[in-house]
Amino acid sequence: MSSHFRAIARHTVFPVTLVAMLFVGDRILEGAAPPESVIVIWFGLMPWVAFLERVLPRYADWNRSHGDLLTDVIYFPTNLVIAGSLSALWAVLYLKAAIALQQAVGSPLWPSDWPVAFQVIFACAVAEFFSYWPHRWMHENAFLWRFHSVHHSPSRVYWLNGIRAHPGEHVFRGFLSGIPLAVLGAPPEILAWWTILTRVGGLFQHANIDFALGPFAWIFSIGELHRWHHAAAKEECDHNYGDTFILWDTVFGTRHLPPDRPAPEEVGIRGLAAYPKSWWGQIVAPFRWREIEARSGGIAERSV
Ligand SMILES: [Zn+2]
Repeated sequence: MSSHFRAIARHTVFPVTLVAMLFVGDRILEGAAPPESVIVIWFGLMPWVAFLERVLPRYADWNRSHGDLLTDVIYFPTNLVIAGSLSALWAVLYLKAAIALQQAVGSPLWPSDWPVAFQVIFACAVAEFFSYWPHRWMHENAFLWRFHSVHHSPSRVYWLNGIRAHPGEHVFRGFLSGIPLAVLGAPPEILAWWTILTRVGGLFQHANIDFALGPFAWIFSIGELHRWHHAAAKEECDHNYGDTFILWDTVFGTRHLPPDRPAPEEVGIRGLAAYPKSWWGQIVAPFRWREIEARSGGIAERSV
C-alpha cells in the first residue's frame, strides 16, 4: 500500500465504518425485524476488521499466531454460550429488581421523553460506569486479577482476543455491567443503538489496525488507547479501562495516551512467563497462581 493511500486509510477506516454501521442499524430498526437483530452487525463486521488487519496492520508480527489462535478459537463459542446463558439468568433478576424499583418510585425510571440521541448517550454513559469500575477493580485487586489476567495474557492484540476472558470474569463483570440499563428500563430501540456502538467499538478496540484516532480519542476506548491497556508494564497497563468509551477514564484520571510515543509492541503480563497458553490451563490458572509464579521464576508484578 502506498504511503499516500495508507495515510488516507488510517484516517478514514474507523469513521467510515462507524457511519456505515449506524446507517445499517437505522435500516434494521426501520424494518420489521426485532431491534435485537442489530447484533448481525457484529458478526458482519468481523471479516471486515480481520481484512483491515491484513492490509493496514499496526504490528505485522501480531497477524501471526503466537500460539494463541487455537485458544482464542475455543474461547469464542464457549464464551458466547456462557455469556448468553448468564445474560438470560441475570435478566430474570434484573426484571424483578426493575419491577420492585419502579413500584417503589411510582413512575418509569427511564427518560423516554428525551430525544433518542440523548437517551443513547445516557445509556452509554450509565452502562460504561458499571463496566469501568468492575474492570478497574479486576486490575487493582490481586485476587480478581488472577481471573482478568486471562484477557491480558496474549503477547499480541488482535480482533479475536477481544472475547478472551475467564468465565469467572463473565460472572463478575457481566452481572454488574448489565444492571443499569435493565433496571432503569431502557427501551429496546435504545438498547439496539447502544449495542451497535458497543459492538463496532468492541471490534476496533483490539483490532491490529493502524488507524488514527483523531477526535475519537476522546470518545471511544479503542485502537492505540486500548493497546496501552495491554502494555506489559503494570504502570502503563493500569489505564484506559473503558469497555467501549473513554468517558470515565477521562473523569477519573486513568486515560493514558502519551503524545510522544506509540503504544509498545511488548504486551502481555511481564514476569509471568509460565502462564499457560492452553484454554484449559487458563481456566484453572486463577487457582494455580502460586505454581505459575514459581515456574516463572519469581513473583509477578501483581501478586496476591
Ligand atoms: Zn484489563
